[in-house]
Amino acid sequence: MAHLKDYSTSNQYRAKVLKSERLTPEDTNEVREILLEVQEPEFNCQVDQSFGVLVKSNDDFGNEFHHRLYSVADIPEKDNGKTKITMLVRRCNYIDEFSGELHYGLSSNYLCDREKGDVLTITGPFELPFKVPEDRTSNLILVGMGTGIAPFRAFVKHIYTHVKDWKGKIRLFYGARSGLELLYMNEKNNDLANYYDETTFKAFLALSPRPHWNDPIALDKAVEQNAEEILEMLSKSNTHMFVAGYDKIHENLNKAFAKILGSEEKWKRRKSELIAGHKWAEVIY
Ligand SMILES: Cc1cc2nc3c(=O)[nH]c(=O)nc-3n(C[C@H](O)[C@H](O)[C@H](O)COP(=O)(O)OP(=O)(O)OC[C@H]3O[C@@H](n4cnc5c(N)ncnc54)[C@H](O)[C@@H]3O)c2cc1C
Repeated sequence: MAHLKDYSTSNQYRAKVLKSERLTPEDTNEVREILLEVQEPEFNCQVDQSFGVLVKSNDDFGNEFHHRLYSVADIPEKDNGKTKITMLVRRCNYIDEFSGELHYGLSSNYLCDREKGDVLTITGPFELPFKVPEDRTSNLILVGMGTGIAPFRAFVKHIYTHVKDWKGKIRLFYGARSGLELLYMNEKNNDLANYYDETTFKAFLALSPRPHWNDPIALDKAVEQNAEEILEMLSKSNTHMFVAGYDKIHENLNKAFAKILGSEEKWKRRKSELIAGHKWAEVIY
């Protein structure tokens, strides 16, 4: 697994904030969609990439800058030689259980506080492991929880916009703690619904049964409800599985898939086969 320190910060670009919009209501976790315009024409970026954001830190460890990565959340556009990229950022705050103090995630708070016209320093672009399979009949099971939907939103859009004759099934599981926190699939931002008519695409919602609790997102129910089709897809050798989001997703996903496959052992075996066949890719943070 790559570590953040392996990502070079030597390519730096200025990115102007064209738009910053809160996608989630006031009393829920703040997630913003930010549209950036990169000022240097030599910056080029694709849907299957991420980029870094550099924030001045001068932390206790002698680091002058704080570097964090973000997925490209829409198909990048070139306009007058300048690349426009969309990102989805969740404001990360954390209450230390011992001291009770509130800690602020440096980069996510910096990004969420930026306004139209502000200029940030970005790095990259860097590869994400989510590649469109060459075989157009491949099946894809995508699991993107919270901001983990960002790369898949771009990915699914790209497949149905640019990849001719896509024949495989795409099943996207996405979720949040409550319907209000859903990104892109709530009433205001439902652009993934544009693909509902595609015979090959379906999206399934995983919501926590207790939206006001700090529970993990209930992936198991959504997976169980579609068990027959998922099992059929997993029985095929050309099925790929891509996963993105916070690290809690691992536990939820393993539990849900072990249940529909009948045992932890069976899921472990199938997952190892996917990994060995280069059909498993994940971005966990
Ligand atoms: C490939 C990749 C793609 C990613 N894509 C996205 C994306 O599309 N959208 C997105 O929102 N994120 C994404 N991330 C995660 C992102 O890079 C950051 O990790 C995230 O925004 C938090 O960074 P931060 O600087 O705000 O928090 P940090 O400052 O790194 O802090 C991390 C967490 O620890 C808490 N914390 C901070 N200080 C302390 C302290 N002293 N004691 C205890 N806890 C503390 C913070 O509240 C925060 O929750 C991605 C990560 C990777 C690796």
